Amino acid sequence: MVTATVPVPTAGKLQDQPWMAPLKKPFDKIYVFWLAGMSCDGCSIAVTGATNPPLEKLLLGHVPALPKVILHHPVLAIESGAAYMENFRRALRGELDAPYVLCLEGSAVDETLSGDGYWVALGVGNLEEEDANMIDGVRQPVRVMDWVQAMAPGAAAAIAVGTCATWGGIPSAYGNPTGAMSLQDLLGKDYRSAFGLPVVNIPGCSPVGDNIMETVAAVVLFLQGLGPLPEFDDLGRPAWLFGETVHRHCVRAGYYEEGVFAKTYGDKECLVEVGCWGPVVQCNISERGAINGLGGCMNTGGPCIGCTMPGFPDKFSPFYKSAPGSLFSSTASKVNGSAIRRLRDMSRKNLNRSVIADRRGKASSGWVFAEPKPTPVDKATHYFYEKWQFWGTAKPGSRKSNKVAGRKQ
Ligand code: SF4
Ligand code: SF4
Repeated sequence: MVTATVPVPTAGKLQDQPWMAPLKKPFDKIYVFWLAGMSCDGCSIAVTGATNPPLEKLLLGHVPALPKVILHHPVLAIESGAAYMENFRRALRGELDAPYVLCLEGSAVDETLSGDGYWVALGVGNLEEEDANMIDGVRQPVRVMDWVQAMAPGAAAAIAVGTCATWGGIPSAYGNPTGAMSLQDLLGKDYRSAFGLPVVNIPGCSPVGDNIMETVAAVVLFLQGLGPLPEFDDLGRPAWLFGETVHRHCVRAGYYEEGVFAKTYGDKECLVEVGCWGPVVQCNISERGAINGLGGCMNTGGPCIGCTMPGFPDKFSPFYKSAPGSLFSSTASKVNGSAIRRLRDMSRKNLNRSVIADRRGKASSGWVFAEPKPTPVDKATHYFYEKWQFWGTAKPGSRKSNKVAGRKQ
């Protein structure tokens, strides 16, 4: 159940936004307000590790076609206290001279369950002023969910960064006391930003920093009128980043296909029998890497535990056990793969000998023919294999190919 401490607006009104009037051309700056719910700050670390483009270039306005980003982030900000919170109040009062994007890292929460206290808060006073909401002369904290619900309708886009904000994530695991949920659960299915967008979801625990940057850049280009609306899937994920399973691009997929599996952590083979869910998980970390093209779960020995998926973590637990369905697929791979592997091994050995070495029938150096010489069975097999390979075409060096090339027989 979604319960909120302030009413949830159904949609922002684009024409009411103060920055709309002068917006006749692409804006040269954009404000980003970064709020944290039930969060470990991993998404903040991920975004500072992005390289494509790097955060610092956006802050300096050095990325062509993208506006300069004015970032209000609780960890990275230079200001603190009242000076920092004044930026949020200016946004709510409509005093900004450019659009703003709202990013939430960490789960939204149900503050009706927090009694007289709060689960997560930022600043003191209330949404309008610092010197308010006092108890015994002490200003009380403002709940983060109040900021989120008040600012989301006026935002050009509301972006859920990381799995906690996109689906609820670890704070929403079974038994949690906070009513943790996603940003879209909090805002409701009718929510639209001031530019008409539902919540944009960038899952991952933590997400790949470049996935965050690329999505934000694509959305901003669209808002600028300089790019098409990026393609999102039916869960609001960037379709071009989350359309494939991580298994399809995994560096260990060849082992899976040949039915060779790791027995324990640290082995180099496919990790499905030690708990990898990659074949059914939509994630791009295996081809993109974690930071600057490097790292990423299976690349560094970690089985996929499905952290980008809405069912994470409960539907993937316990993480130390293999997925029940993998028993069928890995058994089929073992049966199929053991035959395929042997056939490939025969071909590989043959292809590892040069044509010259074959003709001479002996080593050209001390390194050649480390493998046993071809047996009569090998030779017979390759004879028929080549017949099939060059069926309907000319084998290099054969009479037919010399004739086609006009060479003397
Ligand atoms: S390690 Fe996981 S993702 Fe990679 S091939 Fe094996 S099952 Fe697929
Ligand atoms: S491979 Fe799996 S565990 Fe790793 S980031 Fe992707 S979804 Fe998460």
